[in-house]
Amino acid sequence: MTSDNTVYLDNAASTPIFPELIAQYGPLLRDAYPNASASHRAGYANRRKIDDARDRLLSVLPLPKDQSNVVWTSGGTEANNLALLGHAAAVGSADRVSAICSRMAHPSVLAPLRHLRDAGAHLRLLRNDNAGRLDLNDLAAAIDDNTTILSFSLVQNEIGVIQDVVAIRSIVDRHAPQALLHLDATQALGKIDLSTLATGADLLTLSGHKIHGPAGVGALVIADSNIPLKPLIFGGGQQRNLRSGSLDTVGIIAMSLAAEKICGLDSQFHNHVRVMNQRLRSGITKLVDRRRGSVAVVVHSIEAGSPFIVNFSLSGYQGAVVTRALSERGIIVGAGSACSSESVRASPALKALGMSDNVAFGAIRVSFGSQNVPDDVDRFLGGLQDVVTDY
Ligand code: PMP
Repeated sequence: MTSDNTVYLDNAASTPIFPELIAQYGPLLRDAYPNASASHRAGYANRRKIDDARDRLLSVLPLPKDQSNVVWTSGGTEANNLALLGHAAAVGSADRVSAICSRMAHPSVLAPLRHLRDAGAHLRLLRNDNAGRLDLNDLAAAIDDNTTILSFSLVQNEIGVIQDVVAIRSIVDRHAPQALLHLDATQALGKIDLSTLATGADLLTLSGHKIHGPAGVGALVIADSNIPLKPLIFGGGQQRNLRSGSLDTVGIIAMSLAAEKICGLDSQFHNHVRVMNQRLRSGITKLVDRRRGSVAVVVHSIEAGSPFIVNFSLSGYQGAVVTRALSERGIIVGAGSACSSESVRASPALKALGMSDNVAFGAIRVSFGSQNVPDDVDRFLGGLQDVVTDY
């Protein structure tokens, strides 16, 4: 519950900043303004703080600390663009790129890849099963020694499915050892155990506002300084010329502290999230519709996925209508449709699971954050029952 009594369960979209971080934020905002690239003492002091933030971020990742670089970006979207378009720039031209990705990737991965395809790149989107797990036979068939980059989400943002990146890495090593493996860990950091899953990443995307840090800051971690990448943003040559622009010292420090805090949460916290997840899964099966009796529920998130995301559809109910009605009752969750100015279309990622438009339009995404308590789930279930009754 938030300070205004709202039940906030849309944490896959954005999380509230950790309260401890808010206390540190004010003084940082006040004091950390000198330009970190300036050649005076104040600039140097901020540069040191950014170096500390880099070390702090790397300390929670299973990547080689002495070889990894962190490029601070404006968020996960820019980090994904830098990984893919920066790779294309490094190989020389789009037509030298041969990329493999999932149909369920985030738009900030799919859109730059489609942009590259339009400019001549080869793009192969893999099949997945109806739980969202990639078809590894399709991967083995698609990959070859021309493949230059593969990009997958560790945790898919709409349904929370976790990919078997260990198996993916071994297929890459066998068939295309020259290719780069880019993993989008935006929804994964601090939510699932990355100790084996992220070790195989050459490039790793992270975002501040999904881990109880600020929005507008993210990072692309490059696991080896020999990995070729060219910048997308040109200017003063900051960040080893990979991303020009004055550094957001405050945002970078805050994101690194959030990463440290969320990764430091213990198994008790993760059990607590699993308990809320189970409470929700069982609660939605008990909804009743006055006219039709019980409500048919299709749960799109498998239990082996991220415990932080439960996506489901209530048959005969529109997700956007239900989520709006819930928000009028002070309960905030996500819907599974993407709005553009002209139309509302079913989420392409949900369609890639093989759902009909109808079921995809029904999707409701509940996503947990570190602030949630079981009572939030009960209030959500109560609100959902009221919406179903009034529908
Ligand atoms: N990747 C994934 C998997 C995401 O969920 C998001 C945010 N929805 C992004 C990338 C983009 O991150 P940001 O909002 O920081 O640009």
